[in-house]
Amino acid sequence: MMRAILFDCDSTLSTIEGIDVLAERAGVVDQVVPLTTAAMDGRLKLEEAYAARLDLIKPDRAVIDWLGQHYVDTMVEGAAEAVNALRALGWQVHVVSGGIRQAVVELASHLGVPDERVHAVHLDFDADGRYAGFDLSSPLARNGGKAEVCRQVMAQVDSAVMVGDGITDMEAAAAGAMVIGFGGVVRREAVASRAHHFIDKPDLREVVRLLATPAELDRVSLLLG
Ligand SMILES: [Mg+2]
Repeated sequence: MMRAILFDCDSTLSTIEGIDVLAERAGVVDQVVPLTTAAMDGRLKLEEAYAARLDLIKPDRAVIDWLGQHYVDTMVEGAAEAVNALRALGWQVHVVSGGIRQAVVELASHLGVPDERVHAVHLDFDADGRYAGFDLSSPLARNGGKAEVCRQVMAQVDSAVMVGDGITDMEAAAAGAMVIGFGGVVRREAVASRAHHFIDKPDLREVVRLLATPAELDRVSLLLG
């Protein structure tokens, strides 16, 4: 009986929103924020917003390396302990993000999650490390992408749980996953009302406390700290 758990990255494993941080560094926040809002309100397709934001930010390889380290530096309380405990209990841990893959893998590898279990959007760079587009085939740059990735993972396992702060994370329920809303960084009412379970505390160990049986919690109490 193989169980998978899929964690969102931005505002779930890390307290930051990668695209916002990049927009700030590039000095294009005023142009990027309306695109994000329009996509979230459904006035603009996610894939259109995705391309437009990256065209404004033009992140180079160096800034993506920096973002990867920033994800590690801004890890949410209890993230490492929760991932270790879940792995010890036999869960297959994945990271599913609409963020930039080369940065997300840094945080994932810090948590011991292998690259093949990181699902995010790959960026292309030219020979000088300048931004040269993104993987247009990635479902994660489109509406419904998280449910699609969840379906792919679920084809290999018996059951899955998705943990995230956003409404797109809740799409995983359509794929048959249990969805846990995480409000420890940002609390969104729409997520709280749609999630099967909702966590308010700013500590990811709550995920383990929610999913594990009392006997399992005993087994991982040292890992949870
Ligand atoms: Mg998120």
